[in-house]
Amino acid sequence: MTDVIVVGGGVIGLTAAIRLLERGAAVTVWSADDPLDTVSAVAAAAWYPTRTGENPQVARWAAATYRAFRRQLDDGVPGLLLRPTRNLFRTPIPALPWWTAAADGVELRDGITPYTQELHFLAPLAEMDIYLGWLAARVEEAGGRIERRRVTALAEAEADVVVNATGLAARALVNDPAVHPVRGHIVLVENPGITEAIRDQQNPAGNTYVHPRSRDVVLGGTFDVGRGDFDPDPAEAAAIIERCTGLAPELTGARFLAERIGLRPARHGGPRVEIDATDSRLIHAYGHGGAGMTLSWGCADEITELALGRR
Ligand SMILES: Cc1cc2nc3c(=O)[nH]c(=O)nc-3n(C[C@H](O)[C@H](O)[C@H](O)COP(=O)(O)OP(=O)(O)OC[C@H]3O[C@@H](n4cnc5c(N)ncnc54)[C@H](O)[C@@H]3O)c2cc1C
Repeated sequence: MTDVIVVGGGVIGLTAAIRLLERGAAVTVWSADDPLDTVSAVAAAAWYPTRTGENPQVARWAAATYRAFRRQLDDGVPGLLLRPTRNLFRTPIPALPWWTAAADGVELRDGITPYTQELHFLAPLAEMDIYLGWLAARVEEAGGRIERRRVTALAEAEADVVVNATGLAARALVNDPAVHPVRGHIVLVENPGITEAIRDQQNPAGNTYVHPRSRDVVLGGTFDVGRGDFDPDPAEAAAIIERCTGLAPELTGARFLAERIGLRPARHGGPRVEIDATDSRLIHAYGHGGAGMTLSWGCADEITELALGRR
């Protein structure tokens, strides 16, 4: 039996652990933080390849993840929702975006001023406080173990295979200067009863999105490349609420619940999912930026193939 240590208990590490266990590996997850204290727990967690760029690998991961979520929705996995979603465009798009090939319910319609077009599709969305708990429970039900442990070097993990799913921390752990934070600020308000997600990424006042969940609505948000602090910013929160209320007037006066700031683990050149060039037992899986939930199951399949395919 292949012995695997997955370093990292966010969405990337936990999904990889589940796929590895399904293939018969003996898996231990080491996570410096409780899964509910990771960047993954902050995510709006709507399926959407935010600024991933287009390449065949990312397209394959996004499509596999979409299908996995649809199966999990059919199975009633807790924390998953399917949301009708409208992406609004202020300038016409020449063709359907590449990622629409993976999504269901895709339809391009004329927009109402100032929008020239509306792209409709169905997007899985994970309520991460619930979904991460389900992932962690799946790991343990399948015979895996999750331990709270912070490594100072990956060499501390002695196993047949080590998966490096440490997100932003990979910058220092494997000395990868391409890894950088992208700060995101979101606001949570009470849900007045809306179920449709809306995104206006071309808003000159700032990136704007509204993601209704079962108990609240995620209002977003910011995407500050290179910014790595958690400093509160009341003016930023007020501006997010104003933009989102403009997009979904039903939210006017919705009760403020909380705000969250998270650092997306971005990487110039895109996510790194590969076997280390100098240590063949080490598999890297980090740098998923603003799309870790969206790519999670596809990456988990790839990590599993890299880890066990050759055994
Ligand atoms: C505001 C916001 C909104 C977002 N919205 C979306 C969205 O709608 N859709 C989407 O797909 N994505 C979204 N994301 C992005 C998503 O959250 C990330 O891509 C994803 O969480 C990355 O997962 P990860 O497992 O790689 O990293 P993390 O969740 O950061 O997990 C890293 C893990 O590594 C562990 N670790 C780190 N260092 C060590 C160490 N030295 N020793 C042991 N363990 C260590 C940590 O404890 C943690 O368990 C959003 C992010 C933010 C901030």
